Amino acid sequence: MKLLRYGPPGNELPGLLDAEGRIRSLSRLVTDLAGSALLPDALARIAAVDQRSLPLVEQPVRLGPCVAGTGKFICIGLNYSDHAAETGAAVPPEPVIFMKATSAICGPNDDVLIPRGSSMTDWEIELGVVIGKTAKHVNEADALEHVAGYCISHDVSERGFQLHRAGQWTKGKSCDTFGPIGPWLVTKEEIADPQDLAMRLKVNGQLVQNGSTRTMVYGVAELVSYLSRFMSLHPGDIISTGTPPGVGMGMKPPAYLKNGDVVELQIDGLGIQTQRFVADA
Ligand code: ZN
Repeated sequence: MKLLRYGPPGNELPGLLDAEGRIRSLSRLVTDLAGSALLPDALARIAAVDQRSLPLVEQPVRLGPCVAGTGKFICIGLNYSDHAAETGAAVPPEPVIFMKATSAICGPNDDVLIPRGSSMTDWEIELGVVIGKTAKHVNEADALEHVAGYCISHDVSERGFQLHRAGQWTKGKSCDTFGPIGPWLVTKEEIADPQDLAMRLKVNGQLVQNGSTRTMVYGVAELVSYLSRFMSLHPGDIISTGTPPGVGMGMKPPAYLKNGDVVELQIDGLGIQTQRFVADA
């Protein structure tokens, strides 16, 4: 299933994308795609419904972030060896984790604000993992049972804030709108192998990131298991699993986003995001 949330910011309603690419309302079944609505039994109840019986939603309509009630937005740093190399960093011996403020979450096609004082706003396409069942001390073999599904996650980053302002990654990752999520939460049965998904990011039509989740250092199951040893993961939590090479910081010379730039992100089976970057006036 491709689950989504539509409507104005802060007032999104639950829906799904049907086989014909139309949006249908899930409001009869769930109040929102959050918390217990993401549990395996709850998703099975939605899957059992004849989609043609669900009301059609008039389009076009704004898409919001594909999950709500996210308590933790955990990001993995340097999780592609070739990306680590382009940033001049070594591949870490264990996953590097940092938090992105949940207030950064926005819709997949919303404008992204270039923060005041920024000269180094950068892009990072990532596979987002949405937790669907509480995970604490889970084995790698059982880890994917705790995953509801996957989405595109754009880990927008301000490199100056991240690296040159006392070395706190969270500072450069948490600005408002630095977390576009979606367009859909694709439930895990639709994704045969999360470690074999091509991912592409274009800036103003030019392909700059062209990678695959095949080259992740720590895979999805390993990350869920690893994180669950340090903190419980809850339904609606998001793990952004790191980016392949091709970020602006790694270019020679480095290239960063400017007012009016358009960024398009695509991952196999997970849809497309398109954002316009605009200066935060
Ligand atoms: Zn990242």
